[in-house]
Amino acid sequence: MYEVIVVGGGPAGLSAALVLGRQRRRVLVVDAGRPRNAPAAEMHMYLGRDGGSPARLLADGRAELAAYPTVEFRQGRVTSAEGEPGRFTVTLTDGETGGEADGERVETSRLMLTSGLTDQPADVPGLAERWGRSVFHCPFCHGYETNGKVLAVIGNGPDAMLAAYVADRYSDDVVLCTNGPAAMPEPVAAVLKARGVPVKETPLTGVDGDLDALILRFADGTTLAREAVYHRAPTRPNTGLAVQLGCELLPDGCVEVDEYGRTSVAGVYAAGDAAHLKAVPDPVTLVGPSAADGVRAAVWLEQELFRAGLPVALG
Ligand SMILES: Cc1cc2nc3c(=O)[nH]c(=O)nc-3n(C[C@H](O)[C@H](O)[C@H](O)COP(=O)(O)OP(=O)(O)OC[C@H]3O[C@@H](n4cnc5c(N)ncnc54)[C@H](O)[C@@H]3O)c2cc1C
Repeated sequence: MYEVIVVGGGPAGLSAALVLGRQRRRVLVVDAGRPRNAPAAEMHMYLGRDGGSPARLLADGRAELAAYPTVEFRQGRVTSAEGEPGRFTVTLTDGETGGEADGERVETSRLMLTSGLTDQPADVPGLAERWGRSVFHCPFCHGYETNGKVLAVIGNGPDAMLAAYVADRYSDDVVLCTNGPAAMPEPVAAVLKARGVPVKETPLTGVDGDLDALILRFADGTTLAREAVYHRAPTRPNTGLAVQLGCELLPDGCVEVDEYGRTSVAGVYAAGDAAHLKAVPDPVTLVGPSAADGVRAAVWLEQELFRAGLPVALG
C-alpha cells in the first residue's frame, strides 16, 4: 500500500512527489503523459529554464525523482478513485486495451490530484492543430516572441480585451475576429476603439499556414494574412476523479482547495492548474505557480501523515 498516489506527473505532480520522496514516503506517481503545454516547443517564465523545452523540464524532474527509492513512476491513467483517509483505492490503465495495468487496483493512504486542464479552442478548422505553435492562448507565455508581428485575436465578449492587451504590449497591427456578431461589454468596445483595433465579425471558416504565414479564412470568402493568432479558449479538467471522490468543485470545474491544498474530502489534496482557492476565481495557471502549488500541498500533506502516525494524538 502506498502512502500517497499522485495523479498526474506535470510540474505540480512531480514537485509534490519530490517533496514526499525526500521525506521517505512511499509514493506512486501515475502520469498519462499529456501536460497542458505539450504542443509548445518552448516554455517561458520559469526561472533558470526560460525558453527551454517543457518536455525536457519534466524528463529532468522524473530523472531527479529516480534518486528517491520510495518514489515509483508509472506511465498510465487513473480511471477511478474511491475510499476514505487511510484507504483509497484507485484503478489504473496503461492506456492500451488489454495492457498490463488495465483495471489494476492500487491502494493508498492519501491522494494528490494534479491532473491538469485541457484547452478547448473554438470549433474553427485548423485552430486546434496550431495550438501552442502559431495560435497562442497567453501573452505572458508567448507574447515576447510575437513582438512586432502582425496579429489577430479570435475572441468575443469579455475575452475581446485580449486584443487591446496585445495591441498595447506587442503590435501596431492587431485585428479582432469575433467569429460572429460582436458581443463585448461596452467598456471593452470603447477601449478597442480608442486603441484603433479593427473588429471583423464575419464567421471564420478555417485557419491555414503556420507561424509567420497564417491565413484566416472567412465565410464571405475573404482572407486575412497574419503572423500569429491569439485565442483564449475555455478549459476543462482532465479527469472526473474529484467528482467521483465527492470533492467540492468551483464554478469553472476546478477543484476547490484551501491554503494547504486540501480539498473538501479528508485525505484528498489537489494542486496545479486544476485546483484553486474559491477566493481567487481566475487564478494564474503557469508552470511556476503549479510547481509551487505541488510543493506547498505536499508539505502540508506530509504534516498530516506525520501527525496521523504519532503514537500519542496531539489533539
Ligand atoms: C500551449 C501552452 C503553452 C504554455 N506555455 C507556458 C509557458 O511558456 N510558461 C508557463 O509558465 N506556462 C505555460 N503554459 C501553462 C502550463 O502548461 C500549465 O500551467 C502547467 O502545465 C500546469 O501544470 P500541472 O502540473 O497542473 O498540469 P499539467 O502540466 O497539465 O500536467 C498534468 C498531467 O496529468 C496527466 N493526467 C491527466 N489525467 C490523468 C489521469 N487520469 N491519470 C494520470 N495522469 C493524468 C496529464 O496527462 C499531464 O501529464 C502553457 C500552456 C499552454 C496550453
